[in-house]
Amino acid sequence: MAEILIVGAGAAGLMAAVFASRYGAKVTVLEHGEKAGKKIYITGKGRCNVTNDCTMEEFLREVPRNPRFLYSALSHFSPQDMIALLEENRCPVEVQRGRRAYPASMKASDVTRTLLSLCERQGVRFLYHREVRSLRTETGAAGQRRASGIVLADGTELRGDAVILATGGISYPATGSTGDGYRMAEEAGHTLIPLRPSLIGLCAAEAWPAALQGLSLKNVRLTMRCGKKTLYTELGEMLFTHFGFSGPLILEASCHLPEDGGKAELELDLKPGLTPDQLDARLCRELKNGGRKQARNILQTLMPASLAEVFPALCGWPEDLLCSQVTGAQRESLLRSLKHLPLRISGTRPAEEAVVTRGGVCVKEVDPGTMESRLIRGLYFAGEILDVDAHTGGYNLQIAFSTGALAGAGAAGN
Ligand SMILES: Cc1cc2nc3c(=O)[nH]c(=O)nc-3n(C[C@H](O)[C@H](O)[C@H](O)COP(=O)(O)OP(=O)(O)OC[C@H]3O[C@@H](n4cnc5c(N)ncnc54)[C@H](O)[C@@H]3O)c2cc1C
Repeated sequence: MAEILIVGAGAAGLMAAVFASRYGAKVTVLEHGEKAGKKIYITGKGRCNVTNDCTMEEFLREVPRNPRFLYSALSHFSPQDMIALLEENRCPVEVQRGRRAYPASMKASDVTRTLLSLCERQGVRFLYHREVRSLRTETGAAGQRRASGIVLADGTELRGDAVILATGGISYPATGSTGDGYRMAEEAGHTLIPLRPSLIGLCAAEAWPAALQGLSLKNVRLTMRCGKKTLYTELGEMLFTHFGFSGPLILEASCHLPEDGGKAELELDLKPGLTPDQLDARLCRELKNGGRKQARNILQTLMPASLAEVFPALCGWPEDLLCSQVTGAQRESLLRSLKHLPLRISGTRPAEEAVVTRGGVCVKEVDPGTMESRLIRGLYFAGEILDVDAHTGGYNLQIAFSTGALAGAGAAGN
């Protein structure tokens, strides 16, 4: 019977334990926290958007980097398999808008409870308050390195036939994801793709967005460019915050920030449903009807009041401009600001606040068919530690579950 050590009792580690024990391995999960699945508890605002009930192709489109690496993992254990696993174990699932799947109870704890009870039924041993410090490897006669166990922070050594590193990323470290696995992987000789926050708010380089804190804009188009290259463009909703910008569009755009840290430019189209000509015709009409009214009054017919307050300054209008005084150039600058409002950013919020970590163990050094290291036999990776991350919608948890399932099966020799 193969003895498998799994480091981390998060989404990936729990699923790895389910699969490894299902295939008859003797499994021990080492977790430095006091319980399993601490991050799962806070997912989807406590409701846990556990997966997305979509097809493979749709799924891969939501993964900005290394999507093909996930092909085998998602084929082996798909979103539909995840839904079935929960439902077969008395955790009904509800699929909502955008095919986002949640436990029907809307309680993230039900997902963790289901995975834990499966593990317990299959004899998985959990050791809490055990901080894994390093990997043990041995070199065989043919020069091939093999994982042979782990060393805990107190110096205790545990031996195993295989080790699965499922230590997560560096976001929300209070949930236990302190980035230890990256260090261990690097010490073992793996290449790390630089770690960065993803699905994260963006800080404004100017003061005006903070004044709009709490304002949410729906049905706007956000475009991100680096030089002439369009990195992201999408319709949706965004939010102004005390630091700048957040909300679904901004979080998703943050996944597409340039790889090399190059400067990204963001632009907002406040009226994506109107062509510039249609919008100009409307402006002409409103200004004509406005006569000697303050020109800023017509802005309130075009946008929320708080945005209309700061808009004259954004399009370079004098404070007390009257509708009848608006020149062609001033109308043109309003039109440009409505269709191409620059959102100048100074960077992202810190990685600790990110939903996921971008970067991690280079997937070229991991066999996509088993999740085994190509450098060290018997060493497997699963979950956020890998250099794969996705948009919101249940995709990140599914990546953890699918890679965890494959690593568990692979380590157990199936
Ligand atoms: C606020 C928030 C909301 C989210 N909502 C969603 C959502 O609704 N849907 C979705 O798909 N994704 C969501 N995500 C992303 C998702 O939670 C993660 O992608 C996923 O949990 C990663 O799973 P993992 O098992 O790889 O890592 P983790 O869940 O972070 O688990 C890693 C485990 O390893 C343990 N560990 C680390 N180092 C050591 C060590 N040295 N020794 C022992 N144990 C160690 C940690 O304590 C932890 O338990 C959200 C993330 C956040 C932060």
